[in-house]
Amino acid sequence: MDFTISAEIEAYRTKIARFVEAEIMPLEERRDAYDEHGNIARDHLERLRDKARSEGLWCLQLKKETGGQGLGKVGMAVCYEEMNRSIFGPVVFNSAAPEDGNMMVLEEAATEAQKKRWLKPIVEGKVSSAFAMTEPHPGAGSDPSMMLTTAKRDGDRYIIRGRKWFITGAENAQHFIVMAKTSDDPRKGLTAFLFDRDRPGWRIDRRIPIMGPEEHGGHCELIFEDLEIPTEDVLMEEGDGLKVTQMRLGPARLTHCMRWLGLAKRSVELARAYAGERFGFGQRLSERESIRMMLGDLAMQIEIGRLLVMKAAWELDHGRFARKEVSMAKIHVANLLHKAADTAIQINGARGYSTDTPLEWIYRYARQARLVDGADEVHKMVLDRLLRKEGRGFWHWDAEGG
Ligand SMILES: Cc1cc2nc3c(=O)[nH]c(=O)nc-3n(C[C@H](O)[C@H](O)[C@H](O)COP(=O)(O)OP(=O)(O)OC[C@H]3O[C@@H](n4cnc5c(N)ncnc54)[C@H](O)[C@@H]3O)c2cc1C
Repeated sequence: MDFTISAEIEAYRTKIARFVEAEIMPLEERRDAYDEHGNIARDHLERLRDKARSEGLWCLQLKKETGGQGLGKVGMAVCYEEMNRSIFGPVVFNSAAPEDGNMMVLEEAATEAQKKRWLKPIVEGKVSSAFAMTEPHPGAGSDPSMMLTTAKRDGDRYIIRGRKWFITGAENAQHFIVMAKTSDDPRKGLTAFLFDRDRPGWRIDRRIPIMGPEEHGGHCELIFEDLEIPTEDVLMEEGDGLKVTQMRLGPARLTHCMRWLGLAKRSVELARAYAGERFGFGQRLSERESIRMMLGDLAMQIEIGRLLVMKAAWELDHGRFARKEVSMAKIHVANLLHKAADTAIQINGARGYSTDTPLEWIYRYARQARLVDGADEVHKMVLDRLLRKEGRGFWHWDAEGG
């Protein structure tokens, strides 16, 4: 068992850390650096993206031949955590959701012709993308088998009808992946399709107002009224939708965790800074045992999260699905992020509740972590399912030659 990282990954990490501290973090204090939805304003983003690209810090998640850096999931775990020391970090390096997951699934599942048409412009930063799966009640949410959006084959095209919601980035996206039902088969009933924003037959009904800061393009409700998609724009084969979803969501859940660890660490940093300078009742806050317990506990929870994420990353890099590991990481890190932001606000007192620090931003953002890409309860259900299947074997070490 070797917990060291390669010199190459460490070199990326150091470069990213410097970039985040020197170029991105100063913007957090400038009101003009925010758009009206609390994210980094477009002009600042484009300038920083150009710089990240020129420094070779672009698309770490993709293979070199796709236009990325070929870091693998272990390398990404190290670097994404570093990027999200700033609330604006990941999007600057083209490593934010939903682009991150969309690019990874297209790299893995698309044909060469599809990659050229749909993936390349995203990698080049020319367009953005969205992944449309979730539907309002009574459609598919936690349970994808409840999907109501249909795709009916008509010669060399499919006709899509239905409704989706909470589709991140839809207002900005040019390229969409949409999931629809092509048959009643429980395993092979869903299909993934690619479509361009300029196709007729669909529209954005509304941008859903949310409690947190928003990704560029918001979270939208979409209506499909006879959207025509040619058969060549099916991702994988008809009936492979569930497979595409698993390929998309497994790694994407984990990269969420990688980023959230960065935000949790930043929360601790902000808590320690204030506790270190603030006096009350004749004592520095940082010397109070109650505060030390809070910070010591967070430090431990963050390290537990890092170990869970790194184990899952290692498994994925070795061609495994890491279902257990990803679910455990997702539950733990989502809750940790919430706790870290909450504790840091508490330690900062009224200041923590203000917009003078990014803590309130992180706190509002953190609440979604326990819902997106599988609510806590759904991941716990998955873990219990595996526990029932594997019994005591749930916890095991892979033995050499085994
Ligand atoms: C900010 C944000 C961004 C999102 N972006 C996207 C996107 O880009 N594309 C996309 O397709 N979707 C997106 N979603 C949707 C997200 O993936 C879903 O919200 C999530 O899958 C849960 O589905 P649901 O909201 O329908 O919850 P429901 O399925 O209605 O579940 C509601 C609650 O019931 C409980 N529950 C559900 N199942 C179980 C169970 N088996 N056991 C016990 N309790 C259970 C959980 O507490 C859950 O939170 C986004 C959501 C948010 C909040």
